[in-house]
Amino acid sequence: MSTPPPNPATTLIHHPYRAPDGFDAALVPTHRASSVFFKSMADLRARRWVDKSGYTYGLHGTPTTFTLEAQLATLEHATHVLLAPSGLAAITAVDIALLKSGDKVLLPDNAYGPNKDFTRHELAGWGIAHALFDQQDAASLAALLTPDVKLVWLEAPGSITLEFPDLTGLVRLIRQQAPQAVVALDNTWGAGLAFNPFELGDGLAVDLTIHALTKYPSGGSDVLMGSIACRDDGLHEQLAWSHGRLGWGVGPDDVATVLRSLPSIALRYAAQDASARAVAQWLQGQRGVARVLHPALPGSPGHEHWTALCTQAAGLLTMEIDARYTQREVDAFVDALTRFRIGYSWGGAVSMVTACQAARPHVAAPKGEGHGLRSLPTPYAGVLVRLCIGLEDTQDLIADLAQALTRLPA
Ligand SMILES: *Cc1c(COP(=O)(O)O)cnc(C)c1O
Repeated sequence: MSTPPPNPATTLIHHPYRAPDGFDAALVPTHRASSVFFKSMADLRARRWVDKSGYTYGLHGTPTTFTLEAQLATLEHATHVLLAPSGLAAITAVDIALLKSGDKVLLPDNAYGPNKDFTRHELAGWGIAHALFDQQDAASLAALLTPDVKLVWLEAPGSITLEFPDLTGLVRLIRQQAPQAVVALDNTWGAGLAFNPFELGDGLAVDLTIHALTKYPSGGSDVLMGSIACRDDGLHEQLAWSHGRLGWGVGPDDVATVLRSLPSIALRYAAQDASARAVAQWLQGQRGVARVLHPALPGSPGHEHWTALCTQAAGLLTMEIDARYTQREVDAFVDALTRFRIGYSWGGAVSMVTACQAARPHVAAPKGEGHGLRSLPTPYAGVLVRLCIGLEDTQDLIADLAQALTRLPA
């Protein structure tokens, strides 16, 4: 029996058009899908998304997401990459995949604040213990490496205060004293460009990295995304199954935005590095500036470790304002900046600034206790002002800083 010709309503749904082979362009198309179709039930049963050999459901990958994951694997010197809806979601997905009740996780006291907050508020409630260590002091980590430690976070350099750790030494210590622990690096600052965390020398490597794609890979201050990268097939499967069960997908249009920016990441990173170093040099010795923190500056904490591992640096620097200035006076300096916009995040075209309120020892939380921006672990006496260098002309940024610094009372 032949089927009658379909009603247009049906043809609009089951349209016959199929894209021909032979269309080739710089960017992959943006594939939007929740459902993906299978040829047969046998096909449905045979397909696997976890090793990216097939498409099963929009949540578990499309040609658009698989392309970004493959490009990020190249950038990060990894073999497997998973996408998450934000950099923070990448961090928490790692925690959720690898930790269970009774385990312990260790974090640097200068880690990205929300990483510490998730640990303190959520993980603690799930019976997962934690402790903070000082990345510049290997002994403080060694003292914590007990058999219940299943995950150790590292961050190079630390958030806000930008102390660069001896990554290779810390990884060696963890391998010797806690071989059961997974070593995870928040690699947002290095972005895959400043150093290769999967080849640290002496055969040492971290197990996985997370990257806030919100920063340099996006480059546009307009999209939130994160990634988890690793080289080990078994670890990837463990992370991928857990990630799939969580249901934390990313939107294809956001993925397309990152795919459009990624080809220029190395150029942007190098330009922002050069500009940040020029700004850092200029700031040193300016009236009101007690100290400039930037790992490429001699005298900055961990400069020797940065020199041993890196040739490049991200466009971030932190100025410690002379301790005789009050928070109100420092705020007036920050408010007077016109080319630096006040706000969180970094890695875009627009330069940004934030003053870290509680850098003063009498209001900072005690060492080992962190509260995001308030958890500055090192006793910097003055208020800290973090600058994120964008893509403006360097001399225009310096001129802006010069005029705003005149607001600090003589
Ligand atoms: C911004 C940032 C994150 C979080 O990224 P979001 O996409 O904003 O969630 C994580 N780690 C570091 C070091 C960051 O700077």
